[in-house]
Amino acid sequence: MVEILPGIHQIDGVNANSYLVLENDGSLTLVDAGMAPGGKKILDYIKTTMSKQPSDVKTIVLTHSHIDHVRGAFSMKNATGAKVAIHEQDADYLSGKKKLPPPKGGMGFIFRMLSVFFRSPVVEPEIRLKDGDRVGKSLTVLHTPGHTPGSISLYDQERKLVFVGDAITNRGGKLQGPPGQFTLDLLQAYASIGKISAIDFEVLLSGHGDPVKSGGTQKVRELSSSLNKKTEMTKP
Ligand SMILES: [Zn+2]
Ligand SMILES: [Zn+2]
Repeated sequence: MVEILPGIHQIDGVNANSYLVLENDGSLTLVDAGMAPGGKKILDYIKTTMSKQPSDVKTIVLTHSHIDHVRGAFSMKNATGAKVAIHEQDADYLSGKKKLPPPKGGMGFIFRMLSVFFRSPVVEPEIRLKDGDRVGKSLTVLHTPGHTPGSISLYDQERKLVFVGDAITNRGGKLQGPPGQFTLDLLQAYASIGKISAIDFEVLLSGHGDPVKSGGTQKVRELSSSLNKKTEMTKP
């Protein structure tokens, strides 16, 4: 767990990263809730390292409804009293009203097996987000579907940073698209990477892997054009 830049803290979870944003009014926004069901690590960090109270967390915003990002949401919501926000197209998966379609192929089977063992407690989100909405104090929603229908990125224009969830992953310093076997619509996901490359930022924070601390837009542009080339080549 580390402060990546002033006011932005990364909490590496069991699987996916969570981030705490210190807002100008002193409140906290939690981006993704991690896989750990208790959220104890996050709560301890808020109290000891940040000298804040759990009740300072006012909003929990989820980049999408996959279990490694939302499993901790239920207990974090109870411990903090924060409102939970998710894109309207992923909201019903979080609240348990709908089931996310399993990925195709062999992974689909594994996915279904996992979903039996790792059930998330259902959470009814108070806030259903749309493209362009403001969430927390400083974040703007960018709808970046493909990985899931309601996947979002969160843009902090002032700090020139973007949280991308699983839309882009950082593996060993190399940016990549979302994990193919867990992505519902790969072409839509590539288009979303193009959408991210059109905004102006330095820092990119992914659900998986280390932060990109500078040159974010340029690096995403390069990724986007290499993915477009790849899809051009596979066209008949
Ligand atoms: Zn995911
Ligand atoms: Zn993930």
